[in-house]
Amino acid sequence: MPFTQLQIELDERAAQSLLRKRRTLDTSQSPHIVLGGTTECGVANGAGVPPERLLPQTAGCASNVSEAHGKPYLAFCSNDYLGLASHPQLVAALQQGAQQWGVGAGAAHLVSGHFAPHHRLEQQLAAFVGKPAGLLFSTGYMANLGVVQALVGKGDTVFADKLNHASLNDAMLLSRADTKRYRHGDMAQLAQLLAQTPNGRKLVITDAVFSMDGDIAPLREMLALCEQHDAWLYVDDAHGFGVLGRQGRGSLAHFGIDSPRIIYMATLGKAAGVSGAFVAAEQVVIDTLVNHAHSYVYTTATPPALSVALLQSLQLIERGDALRAQLQQLVQRLRIGLADLPWRLMPSDTAIQPLLIGDNAQALQLSEGLRERGIWVAAIRPPTVPQGTARLRITLSAAHSEADVDRLIGALHELTRRS
Ligand SMILES: *Cc1c(COP(=O)(O)O)cnc(C)c1O
Repeated sequence: MPFTQLQIELDERAAQSLLRKRRTLDTSQSPHIVLGGTTECGVANGAGVPPERLLPQTAGCASNVSEAHGKPYLAFCSNDYLGLASHPQLVAALQQGAQQWGVGAGAAHLVSGHFAPHHRLEQQLAAFVGKPAGLLFSTGYMANLGVVQALVGKGDTVFADKLNHASLNDAMLLSRADTKRYRHGDMAQLAQLLAQTPNGRKLVITDAVFSMDGDIAPLREMLALCEQHDAWLYVDDAHGFGVLGRQGRGSLAHFGIDSPRIIYMATLGKAAGVSGAFVAAEQVVIDTLVNHAHSYVYTTATPPALSVALLQSLQLIERGDALRAQLQQLVQRLRIGLADLPWRLMPSDTAIQPLLIGDNAQALQLSEGLRERGIWVAAIRPPTVPQGTARLRITLSAAHSEADVDRLIGALHELTRRS
């Protein structure tokens, strides 16, 4: 077998409770979903099945029939923070968009794939976050790869928080710039590293809201350091856009900061409820990306209908104060309700409320215990988070009710008494 070594590595991962599995949703994204069977790669039952005997859509990932199909769950693991992913107005906008613009863009933006709805959306998004120009990318992952690769290269330096999202880490490697990583949130170390770097372009890259911790980067201090050392600041606001700041304008609005040296990125598949990402910055930065960001230039544009849906989503975000208030209320309710557990919620005011467990197997066991009670919370383990910090990543949405949150609080207390 040419892939024996791969199987051994997967088995080792499984032995450490680190094997990743996927679950199939049989209903649209919402706190109340129906889950199909576990799809389990390799180890459990995919192993030994010749690929030609697997259905095309499950090749390499046979469905685990041991789990009952069609079971309802209360879910706390999506990033659909405002509950827009299945919003009827967005569904209608997407349908209307497909009627008018078809399904596929047919080409890259620089060829013949840049449609009027893409362009209008870029302009509106940039204005919404207070920047002169904007650019759409297919995903946040691709935006990060493209921006860092286009702005810095050999002889330049990227400064990065150690807990940055994986896509930012990959982006700095791809750029071939020197990389300097500082301890999470450690501004003194960042200042020191900046001071030690006299030559080349300097780019500081950071999550605005850390995706696995929920805390917010000290962007005001970071901007001051960037000004002092003539560095650029690249802010990944995947979890802040739509949620933080006046009218959901994001992390820059949250801090009330604005500077031409800030390059802003947010994703459109989380609070915005659809798919994609955008960068907003000075026109010269956007023009540079259009010319040099490979993940922009060499890929097919997203379907224009998605931009039609996103234009609608932007309106709902702007008028979404009630949704954001509901979300904040649920965050407070959860934090009060879980204050007496043996495990600690990490310090966070955002929709991301991780419960720090530590041990991989115990985190998995708790997640499993919740699952038995019809509640779905993802156990996040290394390498996504540092060794010894496995956690239940609870995420809240404006679509949750107080009763939903109370059910989670009750179940976690029950599991505590049992363990
Ligand atoms: C989700 C996420 C991304 C990737 O965005 P996608 O649109 O899902 O590719 C990038 N950065 C952070 C911080 C994220 O949480």
